[in-house]
Amino acid sequence: MARLIDGKAVAAELREGLKARCAGLAARGITPGLAVILVGDDLASRIYVRNKERACASVGIHTRTFRFPAETEMGALKAQIDALNADDSFDGILLQLPLPQGLCADELLERIAPEKDVDGFHPLNFGKLALGLGGKTPCTPAGCMELLRRAGVEIAGKEAVVIGRSRLVGKPTALLLQAADATVTLCHSHTRDLAAHTRRADILIAAAGKAGLVTGEMIKPGAAVIDVGINRMPDGTLCGDVEFSSAEPVAGAITPVPGGVGPMTIAMLLKATIDAAEERRG
Ligand code: NAD
Repeated sequence: MARLIDGKAVAAELREGLKARCAGLAARGITPGLAVILVGDDLASRIYVRNKERACASVGIHTRTFRFPAETEMGALKAQIDALNADDSFDGILLQLPLPQGLCADELLERIAPEKDVDGFHPLNFGKLALGLGGKTPCTPAGCMELLRRAGVEIAGKEAVVIGRSRLVGKPTALLLQAADATVTLCHSHTRDLAAHTRRADILIAAAGKAGLVTGEMIKPGAAVIDVGINRMPDGTLCGDVEFSSAEPVAGAITPVPGGVGPMTIAMLLKATIDAAEERRG
């Protein structure tokens, strides 16, 4: 039976540390600030933004959401980003994705000042990550790494397999694992015989967005399995990319969905905002 990697508990522990860091900054008259840009009224995005606002408040980060209707033009969004880049009260700027059709996320993400890019999506930060030069790291991959470390999973020298190559999750996670000295295989929708790869994995990260893609017989006995997927089932419940019932008896350690990577993503966003405040304000 696998050990459960409890993302909720790890995130709560992390938040306590972040609260203390915020209090330290407050004593110097500094309140870290996060600006969120939300365009359109996608329900999931609205829920994510509300959760982020609450999480920020719980550790002492000042947050404000700038809301725009779906038909907003690029010019207005660029002007908003420029204003936030110049606004000293905000250390982090987050553009909530996905954007409504017709808007170019790449152009807007590139407009965010790299030092305020708490999501780590700016090409400069992504390039630094690829080159192993530090920089800001996307929050979900950072959360996966933190979960592995806190669960005591050894990474150096291990075989790591990542399913999914998006720039939000799969690709940066593969880069982080590589930087931590794992031997990394990156699988995607064109991969032939996915199971042949996953069965070799000491560390398996599933981020495809396909419910039940990974079953127990695809997992190496004793492997650490991190399930990033969030899939809504017809009955309204959430499940990951890993079939938990068949995977859990085989894996050595496993994250649940919900309660695994999800809470870590927000905790890492809070951390990135406080890091940015400390970097910017000395
Ligand atoms: P995406 O759709 O951008 O990318 C999916 C990737 O999976 C692609 O690279 C694709 O090639 C690959 N893929 C799809 N089907 C595959 C298959 N059958 N075999 C192998 N590879 C396959 O998605 P994303 O933004 O990277 O998100 C992935 C999942 O993670 C989604 O379920 C999303 O909701 C979830 N997610 C969770 C969090 C969190 O905080 N827990 C954060 C971001 C995304």
